[in-house]
Amino acid sequence: MSTSLQFALRWLSYPLVFGGSAAFMVRALYAGVPYWPSTPLVAAVGLLAVAALERIQPFRQGWLEDHQDTLTDLVHMLVNLSVIQFTAENLARLGDAVPASVRVFPVESPLWLQLLLVAAVLDLSLYAMHRISHHVPWLWRFHMIHHSAERLYWMNGERRHPLHAALMAGPGLVVLFAFGAPSAVVATWFGILTAHLAFQHSNLDYRVGWVAVCARGRQDSSLAPQARLRRCPGELRRISDGVGSAIWDVLRQYRKAGRRQCRLA
Ligand SMILES: [Zn+2]
Repeated sequence: MSTSLQFALRWLSYPLVFGGSAAFMVRALYAGVPYWPSTPLVAAVGLLAVAALERIQPFRQGWLEDHQDTLTDLVHMLVNLSVIQFTAENLARLGDAVPASVRVFPVESPLWLQLLLVAAVLDLSLYAMHRISHHVPWLWRFHMIHHSAERLYWMNGERRHPLHAALMAGPGLVVLFAFGAPSAVVATWFGILTAHLAFQHSNLDYRVGWVAVCARGRQDSSLAPQARLRRCPGELRRISDGVGSAIWDVLRQYRKAGRRQCRLA
């Protein structure tokens, strides 16, 4: 493969595939297009694009091969994506049911602002529960599945116990539902997050540059190596507790200390 094509794939994969997917989903939100089936279909195209790009430009050639984990990851992915779809399409309607007289969520605000608000609440929920899950033994028993992977590739971002996935998002969802967040906004964010997580755990040699500051990784030039670093052989030290973004890690200056102690083998 030519150097220029490698360079293009490295730097354009994320903005084109994730950026394109997210832009479509946000556009659909603004246009009032129902979440199902357009947003899940776009997320699926994003996932498959990452899978295809991994074959062309892998971060590690060896991670393309089955480690007797493909079926396990496929089942996890299908189950957890189904849970996400159920939450986005059905459960999120709980927020719509909140009477206008007691609704706290600023539904009169611009949609982009509502989307950012939903993203912040859910991201904080995932971050906090992730942190707790590494310290509370019974939660760790559920979460350790996620850290048991021996390689990273497009499918194992969803290697999670579905109950633990629900526990991580639960606090944020309860707050959003109680405040009356619109289901369309919540659902759109789940679609965007799905496309993002496919990259984050991928075996694709790609970079995001400064975007890593807010998309998990202040100093890394790529998102995925951040996830790779989290799986240090012999130890489960975390570099990042953020699941969707690195904002909360940056605030805690957590990663800087962690990087010194855990390098990719
Ligand atoms: Zn973890």
